[in-house]
Amino acid sequence: MRARLGPFATGIVVGMIVLLTMIVTGLVTRASGDKKPIATATPTPTTLPAGQVPQPPPTADPPPVVEGTDLELLAARHLAFPVADWDVAKLTDTFMEGRGDHPHEALDILAPRGTAVVAVDDGMVKRLFTSVRGGLTVYQFDPTETYCYYYAHLDRYAPGLAEGAKLQKGDLIGYVGTTGNAPPQTPHLHFTIFKLGPERRWWEGTAVNPFRLYRN
Ligand SMILES: [Zn+2]
Repeated sequence: MRARLGPFATGIVVGMIVLLTMIVTGLVTRASGDKKPIATATPTPTTLPAGQVPQPPPTADPPPVVEGTDLELLAARHLAFPVADWDVAKLTDTFMEGRGDHPHEALDILAPRGTAVVAVDDGMVKRLFTSVRGGLTVYQFDPTETYCYYYAHLDRYAPGLAEGAKLQKGDLIGYVGTTGNAPPQTPHLHFTIFKLGPERRWWEGTAVNPFRLYRN
């Protein structure tokens, strides 16, 4: 019996060693961060509870369709000028000026107190906000919610203006004033455009200089 079992037992031992070597090698290969993707690294569920459809991971959301630069996109919207009865030829670019510890990143449009301020585009009134610097302000989203139009230092809002209101280009939103940190003797509209972030928060964005949309 021993003579017969000997080779058989040896075969089993050798087989186990080979199997163990394969497993260990496999583990080492994975642990060492092999660049080659392992097919089972991102398992896809093949079965789902009845009536449930596979959901794409959050990162699979299609990016918003953006073609051309922000200025080209905004130019295509043919924005109205935000202050009524204003000679656009007189507009100067104050976007890059310093304002204390921060860049201005807006246009200051001087006009007599009480001059009408109008929506530059269609879109929703996202927020009516009073801030230390901006005073009485309006944050308006464009219809695609890609950009936010910001109007500050208003003397007062247009009657009935409310958050959520759908504005049309040219609609009255308020009047030029000096609320916030505007010099009391220099009523003006502080106007700028923000490109909103992916979460579309009215208080978060990257300023876009509107000057070239009105002057070339
Ligand atoms: Zn300003």
